[in-house]
Amino acid sequence: MKSDVIVVGAGIIGLATAARLLAQGAAVTLLERSLIGHESSWAGGGILSPLHPWNYADEVTRLTDYSTLLFPSWTAELHDKSGIDPEYEKSGLLMLPPYDAVAARRWCSKQNIEIEQRSIPDDLFEDNAERTGQALFFPGIAQVRNPRLLRALSIHVTQLGGRIVEHCTVTGLKIVHRQVQSIASTGGDFSAGDYVVSAGAWSNSILGSHAANLDIKPVKGQMLLFKYDSPPIRTMLVQNDLYLIPRRDGYLLAGSTLEDAGFDKRPTRSAHDHLLTHACAILPSLGNKSVIRHWAGLRPASPNNIPTIGRHPEVRNLFINSGHFRYGVTMAPASAEILVNEMTGIPQPFDVSPYRMR
Ligand SMILES: Cc1cc2nc3c(=O)[nH]c(=O)nc-3n(C[C@H](O)[C@H](O)[C@H](O)COP(=O)(O)OP(=O)(O)OC[C@H]3O[C@@H](n4cnc5c(N)ncnc54)[C@H](O)[C@@H]3O)c2cc1C
Repeated sequence: MKSDVIVVGAGIIGLATAARLLAQGAAVTLLERSLIGHESSWAGGGILSPLHPWNYADEVTRLTDYSTLLFPSWTAELHDKSGIDPEYEKSGLLMLPPYDAVAARRWCSKQNIEIEQRSIPDDLFEDNAERTGQALFFPGIAQVRNPRLLRALSIHVTQLGGRIVEHCTVTGLKIVHRQVQSIASTGGDFSAGDYVVSAGAWSNSILGSHAANLDIKPVKGQMLLFKYDSPPIRTMLVQNDLYLIPRRDGYLLAGSTLEDAGFDKRPTRSAHDHLLTHACAILPSLGNKSVIRHWAGLRPASPNNIPTIGRHPEVRNLFINSGHFRYGVTMAPASAEILVNEMTGIPQPFDVSPYRMR
């Protein structure tokens, strides 16, 4: 079967891109080295916002803002079509001190984002250790449940006629006269009109000498999972880089670390202990719970957290959608839209030049 487009990597970015291309009538094949959505996209927390958004460049804000607007209808459609509920929920996010209140208020006022000052709930910080000042509450911040979103998306891609080939590692691109002619993989050679690299932390290695100034590296993040009978908190909690995410059925995630460990994604005892200590300091009832799962994922880290979305500067039929670092789930629907607009000549919703590969 001849494809119009081959997408390399079936994480959230590759799947969202494929779904958008398929909806526009393209024949799409996705090549995935292992299983659909089992790398960074599966490992993530699903908070649909940067953690301290005022610390990021405008290019990050523009993309995450636009993307979060797309989320309610995107997840509702995926739920409807696939029968799987990605559990999109505006559970809000409570930021515990310390934080930069002036920067937070200034940023929220500029971006027209709701922010409230709240007392810290009584069931947090039993030991009073870091309990100074009040908390900031962001009622508009939502979450999704990554494994469910990925399952819904992969079902939808298949429903739209997409072909997903798992256990198929891309080993190289055959480029002649500034055109990709074919892709070599452990499943044989594949060819198409256009090619999209959305291989997360592995994108640089797939492009090899054609990576030009693309600078995507793995940054490891570890998470812990707990289970309550019902959610012990109603909103997401953040303190510095530690967050707690309550799911509807009582599961609770605690994350995450930011580690430069190359492609080693083995969970470590030191990260386990670090996360557990901090999580228990915020929510003391966790001290009576067991960690029921501990995992790590490799974020596709880019300088300043700005992803690369667009056509390769030298190879005409090669496109990149990668490097979403800490916020690839949040950025997924907007990144897919921007890339597919570029591939099909549709006007962009805003200036997308900062995301181009140079
Ligand atoms: C602990 C943690 C917490 C996070 N929390 C959040 C959060 O709360 N909110 C948020 O928005 N983001 C979060 N993120 C970031 C987010 O998960 C990532 O930015 C996003 O998943 C990147 O998606 P991706 O599709 O580019 O990469 P991936 O999901 O890694 O997908 C890339 C795919 O390419 C495949 N691949 C690689 N090499 C090849 C090859 N040679 N051939 C074929 N296929 C290949 C891989 O197997 C993989 O499936 C978190 C990440 C981590 C690790």
